[in-house]
Amino acid sequence: MANRKLFLLPGDGIGPEAFAEMRKIIDHMNSEESAGFELEEGLVGGAAYDAHGESISDGDMEKAMAADAVIFGAVGGPKWDSVPYDQRPEAGLLRLRKEMELYANLRPAICYPALAASSSLKQELVDGLDILILRELTGGVYFGDPKTITDLGNGQKRAVDTQVYDTYEIERIGAMAFELARTRSNRVCSMEKRNVMKSGVLWNEVVTETHKRGYEDVELTHMLADAGGMQLVRQPKQFDVIVTDNLFGDMLSDIAAMLTGSLGMLPSASLGSPDPITKKRKAMYEPVHGSAPDIAGQGIANPIAMIASLAMCLRYSFEMIEQADRLEGSIAQVLDDGLRTGDIMSDGMTQVGTVEMGEAILATYGASAA
Ligand code: NAD
Repeated sequence: MANRKLFLLPGDGIGPEAFAEMRKIIDHMNSEESAGFELEEGLVGGAAYDAHGESISDGDMEKAMAADAVIFGAVGGPKWDSVPYDQRPEAGLLRLRKEMELYANLRPAICYPALAASSSLKQELVDGLDILILRELTGGVYFGDPKTITDLGNGQKRAVDTQVYDTYEIERIGAMAFELARTRSNRVCSMEKRNVMKSGVLWNEVVTETHKRGYEDVELTHMLADAGGMQLVRQPKQFDVIVTDNLFGDMLSDIAAMLTGSLGMLPSASLGSPDPITKKRKAMYEPVHGSAPDIAGQGIANPIAMIASLAMCLRYSFEMIEQADRLEGSIAQVLDDGLRTGDIMSDGMTQVGTVEMGEAILATYGASAA
């Protein structure tokens, strides 16, 4: 079996607690299924700052660059509130995203049937929901120049942020949306604001052109991003893959996330371009949640977002589709069986801690082997 290099960065707070449960599944896959994962572990965030005074060391950065995939827990916490800005825990995460050139952020919003009743929307609107928001992550208004606040000298200041996109940035995220849609229900909805923004006009044109050049088997629709936000809460199941820019993606993915309940349920992937020789993409997988200092060390964090991040890694970095399906199925099964961590607890269910939840998912996964 081919060696698959994983670089593991558990981080701070509940990061390492949730990570330990995910790690048991990797170890099981190595020992029982000869998955051939080669594991190395490093430090990131506050843990890295405590060890070497920076939020990720150059050595660990090199290991991340050399790995087939990085799996990341969470960083941050009040302990590091007063460290210098450049060494704050989140800087390690930003450095990883930047140096690995992870331009595409995949945030699935899946509503497990067992949790549909606890969504803020009506059960029938979210039951069985399975959409994927693809957000451009390295361009747009968060990075464009100029980005300034100028004193106008008359008691007024002027703030400028610049929304800027080049053709290649839209082409590569558009192409990725079509490729991902082919592995799902084959539909892409592209969202921008072409009615009021030049970057929206170009976004719309380039996505349409990219579609014509080799992706016409995929259904493409366009929607203004504000209408898209409305449709996401009105009838979320109409979507399959939504592709959008950095700013709109930031907001729309948070809206979609809340359709499915707790932060403790949400995985994500960030991908870069394929290597011209090996064809492998740089990739990092992480839960959407942070280090949750309010519950860290109590053994009550929900490990599902972390475990579902491993499922995304199996699917997108290693094409281990059967194992990814089984792992996601095991999460659904354990929820069906009534197990709940505190964040998703409801009447009549059985409340468990991080370790019990992780071990129940592992046992279900092990039992599901053919
Ligand atoms: P958070 O996601 O850590 O927590 C928000 C709320 O959700 C908390 O009440 C927490 O207890 C709960 N929660 C989150 N994950 C949970 C889980 N798996 N199980 C059960 N409950 C869960 O966000 P925050 O409180 O705004 O930030 C805390 C720290 O995390 C800060 O230092 C922040 O900068 C950092 N942060 C890091 C990341 C990251 O590493 N990617 C992301 C967001 C925030």
